Amino acid sequence: MTDKQPTTPGKNQGGSNSQRPHGFGPAFWWVVLVLLIIWNAMFLWPHSKPEAHIPYSTFLDQVRAANVADVLISGPQISGTFIKPLLWSESPAGGLTPSSGKAEKTKSPGARHLSGTSAGKNEGKPQKYVHFATIFPESVGDPALMPLLESQHVTVNAKVPSKPWFMALLVDWGPMLLLVVYFLWIGRQTMGKQSGMFGLGRSKAKRYSSEQPKVTFNEVAGAREAKNDLKEVVDFLQNPQKYVRMGARIPHGTLLVGPPGTGKTLLARAVAGEAGVPFFHISGSEFVEMFVGVGASRVRSLFEQAKAESPSIVFVDELDAVGRRRGAGLGATNDEREQTLNQLLVEMDGFDEHQEVIVLAATNRPDVLDPALLRPGRFDRQVTVPHPDREGREGILRIHTAKIPLAPDVNLELLSRKTVGMSGADIANLCNEAALAAARGLNKQVGMADFEEAIDKIILGGEGPSLTDPNARRIVAYHESGHALVAWFTPGTDPVHRVTIIPHGRALGVTEQVPSEEQYNYSRAYLIARIDVMLGGRVSEQIVFGDVTTGAENDLIQATRLARRMVTRWGMGSLGPVAFESDEQQPFLGYELSRGKDYSEATAAHIDKDVRKLISERCEVATRLLSSERDKLDKLAETLLREETVDEAVLKQILGPANQV
Ligand code: ADP
Ligand code: MG
Ligand code: ZN
Repeated sequence: MTDKQPTTPGKNQGGSNSQRPHGFGPAFWWVVLVLLIIWNAMFLWPHSKPEAHIPYSTFLDQVRAANVADVLISGPQISGTFIKPLLWSESPAGGLTPSSGKAEKTKSPGARHLSGTSAGKNEGKPQKYVHFATIFPESVGDPALMPLLESQHVTVNAKVPSKPWFMALLVDWGPMLLLVVYFLWIGRQTMGKQSGMFGLGRSKAKRYSSEQPKVTFNEVAGAREAKNDLKEVVDFLQNPQKYVRMGARIPHGTLLVGPPGTGKTLLARAVAGEAGVPFFHISGSEFVEMFVGVGASRVRSLFEQAKAESPSIVFVDELDAVGRRRGAGLGATNDEREQTLNQLLVEMDGFDEHQEVIVLAATNRPDVLDPALLRPGRFDRQVTVPHPDREGREGILRIHTAKIPLAPDVNLELLSRKTVGMSGADIANLCNEAALAAARGLNKQVGMADFEEAIDKIILGGEGPSLTDPNARRIVAYHESGHALVAWFTPGTDPVHRVTIIPHGRALGVTEQVPSEEQYNYSRAYLIARIDVMLGGRVSEQIVFGDVTTGAENDLIQATRLARRMVTRWGMGSLGPVAFESDEQQPFLGYELSRGKDYSEATAAHIDKDVRKLISERCEVATRLLSSERDKLDKLAETLLREETVDEAVLKQILGPANQV
């Protein structure tokens, strides 16, 4: 989207069917350029007139002989005109050699006229000159010159000496040179884009030909189902006959659906790489232009290119930017988007049976797509690309650490567990951050510590400076110890991996739990234990200091949110197995603006009461636990104050075996 040049918005309306670019071709601009150069030259070329280069003494003689009409003095240069033309021969070298001794005066009245036209070469042959030039002997000076000129009634003009030649060149020709460079540049640009200077409606689809580095399915880890589905697409492209023979219609549109960064674009490129076909890649947002009709014409030329090179793949990234439900939004861009979308639908219908053009599209918002896009014959296949599971994450880690020198202590399996919820792009970023951290530390290899630092940086924000106020540090130490202790002694929670009182991002301390298994389904016991752990920090402050701080704000928000969901969505409160939909939908969809609650005020009050009851119950449980383990709490807090960070092994030393009450 950076290289568009909407210089002439009006130009594009309508027919961008033609292969020829719009506007003027490069040839036109070359003609303009040449004309400009000629015009410039005409103005700047010195108007040469024939002049005799005479010695200063000859000049004085001529003045005394009353044969000088006027002079122009410019620095040491004196030029002027004779009253009667002077017969003079220029030396071939242009030096100042008088030809036949003394210059003669001619009496012929026509001579003046004659010399005016004698512009030819003057090698040695005497000729008649009206104009002359001489050099004034500046270093010697001639105080008698002015009185002499005056006495002879010579008109005296003076001029500031002209600039040195290179300055003159720069000033006079500089702008011209700039212009030339500019035109050359434009020329190259237009050729590179194989479109006219103002080729606005031309498709910006990039072509990935088979020569370019091939991405294969090997470079995509995880996403097993997606890969299986897409292998079929590869097969269509490689052996279309196989399917045509069976009378099957080759499906044209496949929609990749998944959260950002899960490798949709990567998969699409891999399909092209595996099949070895041309790959046309364009992003939906590139279709949506300010000028009505541009998007539609882009779609048209994109598909034209693709059809010309079939079998090929058209990949429309961010389909939701153009394929939103029609008639939903507000504003002028809507009109343009609808035209673009309509054109896309037309193109997808327009394939005939034998054109092996496969349209892949990616979106993370399938819910906002126009239903017309999803009907059979268009994007009738959907391939879901979910967040990677543990195994997938390990695979992605393996791919992205392949070129990184890893220290022996790096455990990719452990890392894959610590990166729950990260997308492929997040993990790629993590590997890069770890490498950066190692480089900063001047290490030869990237170690586990570098990865941990990178994870902290990505999830929690960078490490901040340690707290200096001893009181605040004590409070944070007890707060984190509270979280850790509750987690340690509550059955069914995720194991505590690390506790630290080094601030990260906005958090003053962190207690890190790493789930041992991927969980898709959470039991009530697990969720309640989570609430216990969240409340542990605040409860610990209360027990030890008899007061609470604002440090527990985030804990409380999360615990309350979780409790509310348990009550309203998962039927885990006292309301029974009923789900009350809360309005957590995206509010910016246009067609789903504000839906309000679908339950009564009485129920709302009941929900609030239930949530409060749940939280305060769990507060009591945590208080009981921490009070009975007060000595261990103190010990952990002291260790934290001393060491700042405590890992699992040290926790075991201090607290004994985990998950036993
Ligand atoms: P999306 O298009 O889904 O938003 P991308 O395909 O652009 O995500 O992924 C961004 C980057 O993340 C990729 O270039 C790749 O480096 C990395 N990545 C994402 N998913 C995977 C995966 N499954 N395997 C390997 N690398 C991945
Ligand atoms: Mg993408
Ligand atoms: Zn906390």
